[in-house]
Amino acid sequence: MLTPSTDRPVHVVGAGPGGLATAAALQSHGVRALVIERAQTAGASWRARPDSLRLHTTRRRSALPGLRIPRAAGRWPSAPALADYLERYVEHHGLEIATGVAVSRVDRADPGDPGAGWLLRANGGRLLHAPTVVLATGRHATPFVPDWPGLDGFPGEVLHSAHYRDAGRYKGLDVLVVGAGNSGAETALDLVRGGAAAVRLAVRTPPHVMRRATLGWPAQYSAVMLRRAPALLGDGLTWATRRLTGPDLTGQGLPGPDAGRFTRARQGAFPVLVPGFVRAVRRGWIRPVAAVESFDGPRVRLADGSHLAPDVIVAATGYHSGLAELVGHLGVLDEYERPLAHGARTAPGAPHLHFTGQTNPLSGTLRELALDAERVARAVSRAHRRRSGGRAAPAESAPEATTATRG
Ligand SMILES: Cc1cc2nc3c(=O)[nH]c(=O)nc-3n(C[C@H](O)[C@H](O)[C@H](O)COP(=O)(O)OP(=O)(O)OC[C@H]3O[C@@H](n4cnc5c(N)ncnc54)[C@H](O)[C@@H]3O)c2cc1C
Repeated sequence: MLTPSTDRPVHVVGAGPGGLATAAALQSHGVRALVIERAQTAGASWRARPDSLRLHTTRRRSALPGLRIPRAAGRWPSAPALADYLERYVEHHGLEIATGVAVSRVDRADPGDPGAGWLLRANGGRLLHAPTVVLATGRHATPFVPDWPGLDGFPGEVLHSAHYRDAGRYKGLDVLVVGAGNSGAETALDLVRGGAAAVRLAVRTPPHVMRRATLGWPAQYSAVMLRRAPALLGDGLTWATRRLTGPDLTGQGLPGPDAGRFTRARQGAFPVLVPGFVRAVRRGWIRPVAAVESFDGPRVRLADGSHLAPDVIVAATGYHSGLAELVGHLGVLDEYERPLAHGARTAPGAPHLHFTGQTNPLSGTLRELALDAERVARAVSRAHRRRSGGRAAPAESAPEATTATRG
C-alpha cells in the first residue's frame, strides 16, 4: 500500500504560467515542486501563438510572482516576449521540470484512504505517486471544432485558430473565420493585414467589443477595480461608459449583446479587446456574417439562410480543458466539466488535489493565476506541516518514475 509522504515533491501538471507561478510560490514556502509538462519546453502554449498576438493585459499586471516582465517587452507584451519571459522564469526560480511527460489520468493512490495522495499515469507507462497534485493544464488544452453537418465534404483547408501562425499562406484567398471572440478577431485582423482577398467573421453570439485602453487607461484596470462588484453594478457602469469604451458596430452587422459585460464574463464570454478590429469592421475589411450552420460541398450555409464559398475556414471556436479525461471519474468536476473547487480549496473527498487556471476573469487570467499561486502554496504548505506533524516539509528525493531536468 502507498503511504502519504511529504518527502515526495508536489506534482504540478502543466508548465504554463499557472503551473510555473504555483511551483515558484511552493518553493518560496519551502515545499518542493516538480512541474510535469507534455511539451518540450515551459510556456509552450505561448510559443505556439502567432507572433502578431499581443496581450490585452498590461506588462505589470501580467507578471508572475518574483520576476517582472522586462520593460523592453512594452506595455502590451507580444506572445514571443511572454514565452521568453516564461522560460526565463524557470531559470530565475530554478524550477524543476520534467518535460515530454503527458499525464493521461489521475487516480487515488489508495481508494480507502483519501489522505494517501494521488497516482498519475503518464506516457511511457510512467506511474507517479504524489502526495499533492496541482492541475495547471489550462483552459485551452484541446482545440474544439464543432461537428458541423457536411464538414467532411468541404474541399478547402479547415484549421483551428490554435494552429494559425501567420497570414502568409492565405494571401489572396477568401477566408471565413468562425467565432467572434478575441482569437477570431485577432485572426481576422491578421488575415486582413496579410493580404487575404476577403475576410468574413461568422458570429453566433455577438461579443462586447471594447477598446483595450481608453485615453491611456487600460480596460483591465477598471475590471480589477470592479472585480468584487455585483455583476449588475459592473454591467450598469459599463453600459454608462459604453460610448467611450465600446464602439457601436450595429450598422456593420455586429450589434452589441443583450447581456452586460460583467454578466457575460461570468458566463465565460470575454469581451473583444483587439486594437484595430473596430476600424477593420468599420471599413468593411472584416465583414461580420451569421453563424455557420452546415456545409454542402464547397458551400457554407449560414444561420440566416445565405451561403458563402470560402477557400479556407479558420475555426476560432474554443477549447476543451481536457479535465474530463484526466479527473472526470473522481467526482471533482461540475456538469460543465469545471472544477468544483479552485485554487486553495479542494473538492470534498479529494484532499490535496488542487486546480488553478480554470477561470477567465475580466481582471486578467495571468494576474489571477499569480494570485492563485500564492493561495495554493499557502494551503499546501499548511497541509504538509500537518501531515508531517509540524516539521517543515523535507526537500529531497525525486519520484523514481520521472527524470527532472532543468528547463
Ligand atoms: C490567444 C490567447 C490570448 C490570451 N491573452 C491573455 C492576456 O492578454 N492576458 C491574460 O491575462 N490572459 C490571456 N489569456 C488567458 C491565459 O492567461 C492564458 O491562456 C494562459 O496561458 C493560461 O495559463 P495556464 O498555465 O493556465 O495554461 P496554459 O498556458 O495553457 O498552460 C498549460 C500547460 O499544461 C500543459 N498540459 C496540458 N495538459 C497536460 C497533460 N495532460 N500533461 C502534461 N502537461 C499538460 C500544456 O502543454 C501547457 O504547457 C489568453 C489566452 C489565449 C488562448
